[in-house]
Formats: sequence, structure tokens, C-alpha cells
Amino acid sequence: MSAVLEQAQKRRTFAIISHPDAGKTTLTEKLLLFGGAIQLAGTVKGRKASRHATSDWMALEQQRGISITTSVMQFPYNGKIVNLLDTPGHEDFSEDTYRTLTAVDSALMVIDAAKGVEARTIKLMEVCRLRDTPIITFINKLDREGQAPLNLLDEVEKVLNIQCTPITWPLGMGRDFKGVYHLLEDRFYLYTGDKHRVSEIETIDGLHAPGLAERFGAVYQTLLDEIELLQMAGTDFDLEKYRAGKLTPVFMGSAINNFGVRELLNGFTDWAPSPLPRATETREVQPSEEKFTGFVFKIQANMDPKHRDRVAFLRVCSGVYRRGMNPYSVRLGQGVRVSNALIFMAADRESVEEAYPGDIIGLHNHGTIAIGDSFSEGETLRFTGIPNFAPDLFRRVVLKDPLKAKQLNKGLDQLSEEGATQVYRPLTNNDIVLGAVGTLQFDVVQFRLRDEYGVESVFEPVQVYCARWLQADDERTLKAFVDKNELRIAKDHYGDLVYLASSSVNLSMTRERHPEVRFLDTKEHG
Ligand code: GDP
Repeated sequence: MSAVLEQAQKRRTFAIISHPDAGKTTLTEKLLLFGGAIQLAGTVKGRKASRHATSDWMALEQQRGISITTSVMQFPYNGKIVNLLDTPGHEDFSEDTYRTLTAVDSALMVIDAAKGVEARTIKLMEVCRLRDTPIITFINKLDREGQAPLNLLDEVEKVLNIQCTPITWPLGMGRDFKGVYHLLEDRFYLYTGDKHRVSEIETIDGLHAPGLAERFGAVYQTLLDEIELLQMAGTDFDLEKYRAGKLTPVFMGSAINNFGVRELLNGFTDWAPSPLPRATETREVQPSEEKFTGFVFKIQANMDPKHRDRVAFLRVCSGVYRRGMNPYSVRLGQGVRVSNALIFMAADRESVEEAYPGDIIGLHNHGTIAIGDSFSEGETLRFTGIPNFAPDLFRRVVLKDPLKAKQLNKGLDQLSEEGATQVYRPLTNNDIVLGAVGTLQFDVVQFRLRDEYGVESVFEPVQVYCARWLQADDERTLKAFVDKNELRIAKDHYGDLVYLASSSVNLSMTRERHPEVRFLDTKEHG
């Protein structure tokens, strides 16, 4: 087997997703703890404040060093190399989440046992489904009174429309939560409650092992009844169905108490797919290929406040990235100088010596790399599927000092390449219209314009209901449409034409009148 393939097969690259407060941060921390990446819980902090208030978020962004190391983490476990990608909890940053999901091979979904399936869980699931991303489910907070486990499974199956196979089942709940029974291993894992260390775990083999009834009484009887029901009506675990995104193995536990986390991590490293082939416009790229390729799914500015540079997060798709390499940017048609690529360890970042398919590396740059960029060793290939979403909210930017127009444009161009906002320049006037998915994004852009580019700006309401990218079968048709509707047409940062509808009625009427034109609500980067 080639060295690349051997390394690729060890990689498990996944995102952890949940509705805010389900316990994503806590579980991440515990996974790192069990993975031996950190000694004591409490190391992963950071974005917690992000969803509470704008000012917190900004203060936090200034300590970028913390938030960044928590967004990509690598650690070895079970002979595998795990790459864990965090996704921001705040809904205003959902675009970031969507793009992160394009860079992984599987996902781990955390659900709060009391709340069940929540709004953002549903949205995230929809995104995973676009690519049939395999999903493992962790039902958290069983140390609290929650819904009955059987009801939770039912809810996941019905609301998220995916088959569930429970792998671990709780023995008791709330204050009586004693541990879990592993259905595939036919073994109980019983816990002692030490939050901060990987606690001793007592195991007992066999569902009907002697002494269980006397020791656990009613909760054991409940478990027996539930397991019997599951065995009659449940779905057997099927690795192929999981890998195809049709079935989710379900683990139960309590992240904060370390209950059920190790079993989850074992199942995950055993079953989750290693790096999968990736589609480009021209061909499918296999991870085992010798030549390096990858794409950028996220850009983060000013990780180090002393240096005004940006870090592009690149997912390696094939071959090896070696220190000192200047990867070829397909968009620019030339190699990009990278002085020191980073790999993100749990509590630290280090220079990369070598990175393999599935790994995420950070490339420092001064604005030469944009979201969606594909990299190779010289081959012209563009990875597909990195989405740009039409925003829902719009503002007009007004400059306080007109002499700063150049800085403003530069700032907005860079921020749009990072995916912080979308910029539209109408064809017929000098306005600049910004689009965002959530209002917090505007606050951030305004703050960063001031802080990083020295530009004071005001954002005003603007009569735009939605933006749709325009396409037609040929240039002439498109041009005829543009000439006729010039007042409502703008170019986005990449020069693509966009229709800025003033209302939903305006959009549907224009659509009806021009069936020859397509109005798209997503566009692929690149
Ligand atoms: P996130 O928003 O999904 O990242 O959630 P956090 O990890 O920040 O958790 C949200 C809250 O739930 C915090 O107060 C945690 O301490 C708490 N929490 C997390 N896991 C558990 C658990 O297993 N049991 C209980 N009772 N609380 C938990």
C-alpha cells in the first residue's frame, strides 16, 4: 500500500454539530480528554460567549488565538488520526457551518435528551443530507430528567427522517443514571462520577448477568423491557447504511460526567469513513493519489493580533502537503508562497511537516487566498460543492469620510473573500450593498472595517428583498435581460451578475416574465 493511502486510511475527519446548548463544547472537550489530547477538562474555551452578545463576540475575536485552536483539532486515538472540526453555534454564522460540512467525511450530532430534536439540528441535518454525510448521534444530558429514550429515537427517526440504531442504552436516567448497556458488545459500562478525570469504568458482560437485578432494581427492569422492545422493532446496525447516510448509530450518555463518551469515540473511530473521493469540475480525486490537492473552506483573519494576516483553512484531498511547498492556486494560475503552514493540535498549533488526505492545514496569506480556492501541484482542477448562499438581509454602506473609499473597497473585498459578508455593486450607481445571513454579521463587518482598515462607515436600510444569481443558456439572452433590468442588477465580488429583487412580488413577476433566465439562490465558489 502506498504511504499516502496508508496515512489517508488512518484519518477520520468529522464535524460536530448541534443546536446551541446541547453540549457540543462539553463533548468536544471530553473527546479530547479521552483522546489524551488534553489532561484536564477546561482547556477548550472560547466561542462560548459568541452567541450571547455582539460585544462579547468582538472581545473574543480579539483573542483569536483561543477561538481558532478550538475550531480545528487533531488527536490520535485507537491507531487513527482524528480531525475534529467545530462549527459555530450562533445561527448568524451558519454559512461557516455549511462550508465546514463540505470539508469533512462524517458528522457527530449532539442532541439534548430533554429538548430532543431542535430547530438547528433540523437545518444541519438538511445540509448533511445534501452530501449523504454519515452521522453518528450522541444523546446527551441523561443525568437530567429527559424524554424517554424510546421517544427520543422515535423523534429522531420521524423529524430527521433517518433510521436509528441504538448502540448504547442508558441504565437509569436523571439522578439514577448508572451507566450504559452496549447492545453490540452485550456489556454494561458502569460509571463513577468524576467529572475531571477519565474515570474508572466497571464493566459487566451479559444483559442477564447475575446480580444486576438486585443491584439496580427498577432501572434494570426498565432497561430489560426497553431492550426487548428494541430487539423486536429496532433496526440492526448496518455499516453500509451508516456510510450512505441512511442510518445513524445512536449513543447515549452525559458529556459533562464522561458517561458514554469513550464508547462513542470507539464506535466513531471504528466506523466513520476515512477520507472519501472528492468531485471536481473535471474528474473525481482519489485520496490515494500521489499528487497533493486540496480546497479552502474557511478563512479567518488576524489570528495573531500582532500580524495583520489571514489564515486559510485547507482540506487536503489527495497526496501529501510537505513543509516548504508552494501550492498551485488554480484560480490564480500560479504557486502561492506559504511560509509556514499550520496544523491545529488540541491546545496548540504547530508547523506542519507533512499533512495527508483528511488533514486540515492553515495557510498564512495576505489576501491571495479566497474561500473555495482549489490547490494542486499544477493540475487545473476545481473542487465543487462549496456553497455561497444568497443572503437574507441587506444594507447600503455609507462612508463617513469619502476619502477612504479605497480602503473601504479593499476591506470589503477581503471580508467577502473570507465569507464574512457578500458585497454587491449595482451596475447603474456607486452604491455598495452588503448581504448577510444574520444581523450580527453586519456588526462584525462594521467593527472590522474600523478596526482593521481604519474606515468609519454607516450601514443603512436598503430596498432589497433578496439576491439571486443570474444564469441563462447563452450570453445574448443574459445580456438582453440585464439591459432591460439594469436598475436592479449588480455584480458580486467575483463579477457574477446578481438580481436584487425589491420584494417577493417583484422577484416572482420578473421570473414569470423571463422564463429564459435562471435565478439561483446558491452559487458555488471557485
Ligand atoms: P454547546 O452550546 O452545544 O456548545 O453546549 P455546552 O457544551 O456549552 O453546554 C451547554 C450547557 O449544558 C452547559 O451549561 C453545560 O455545562 C451543560 N451540559 C453539557 N453536557 C451536560 C450533561 O451531560 N449533563 C448536564 N446536566 N449538563 C450538561
